[in-house]
Amino acid sequence: MNIALIAHDAKKELMVQFCIAYCGILSRHTLCATGTTGNLVAEATGLKITRFLSGEQGGDQQIASRIGCNEIDMVLFFRDPLTAKPNEPNDMNILRLCDMHNIPIATNIATGEVLIHGLDRGDLDWRIYSR
Ligand code: PGA
Repeated sequence: MNIALIAHDAKKELMVQFCIAYCGILSRHTLCATGTTGNLVAEATGLKITRFLSGEQGGDQQIASRIGCNEIDMVLFFRDPLTAKPNEPNDMNILRLCDMHNIPIATNIATGEVLIHGLDRGDLDWRIYSR
């Protein structure tokens, strides 16, 4: 499965901890991430991650375009609900494109836990046939 990782600044440490906890599961999949998130997770876990540009330079749009092509099977996008960001419209676009293609997306760690266990159980295997 192709998994995309994005975390707003206030949620980056949480993303790192999440990826350390689920490193075993994540290592069996293909990972990509926005630049800073990808660097932090790769450094902490040693996971192989394709890193796009940083979010502010358009990395989130690079991921959005792959979502738009239905090339991503699961998105972990840990959002900060408190801080307004200049690229907020891009965030909404990611949500919209996931809904367009029925791509599971977690916007917080609670949903992330459910998705990662579902992924490991094979609940998302149908995605392989829907690409
Ligand atoms: P970053 O991008 O991982 O490069 O910080 C994420 C974001 O859009 O904040």
